[in-house]
Amino acid sequence: MKEGISDTLVFNMKDLRHEDFKEYEALVPSEPLDLTYEEARFIKPLSCKVGLFRQVGDNIYVTADVDTTLLVECRRCINPFEVGITTTLGLLFSLGNESSESDEGDERYYDGETLDISEDVRRALVLEIPTWSLCSETCKGLCPECGADLNRTECSCEMTDETSFHASNSLSAQLASAFPKIGSLKNTEK
Ligand SMILES: [Zn+2]
Ligand SMILES: [Zn+2]
Repeated sequence: MKEGISDTLVFNMKDLRHEDFKEYEALVPSEPLDLTYEEARFIKPLSCKVGLFRQVGDNIYVTADVDTTLLVECRRCINPFEVGITTTLGLLFSLGNESSESDEGDERYYDGETLDISEDVRRALVLEIPTWSLCSETCKGLCPECGADLNRTECSCEMTDETSFHASNSLSAQLASAFPKIGSLKNTEK
């Protein structure tokens, strides 16, 4: 049943002519899927396990497990680091042609020759891109004074308890910027 590893998310329906089920493994480069983002770089091909199941009326049910690796920037120390993302899809395709006005709808079509899940995989992966990533829960971030990466080095800035507390506690920093009076009150305490 299993085919060799392919590099595309477009499947030839000839494979299903005499069978009701077909399984594929694919290693798909991210570039053709237009998965190019400045803040999240897809650094490995998408590793995909795809199953095509023939249903009544020539409908095809498609399952896909996709995983890959992103390079994202830590929000505290701005160092890039790798993070794995996965997504699982279950999609029903009907035989026919997509009507031009409903391309945003949930209905999916294939033309009987090929079936293309590239766009569905692309959309699902975009949703998995982390928006607030830390290289580590304990990332020390950058020195608010000199910008040194405190994970790698100690700088000679005078760090009061106040400034290190603000640098490491984003809630407190948010509160301080939302309520400047609280921040200035704190600063006058010492
Ligand atoms: Zn970090
Ligand atoms: Zn410093």
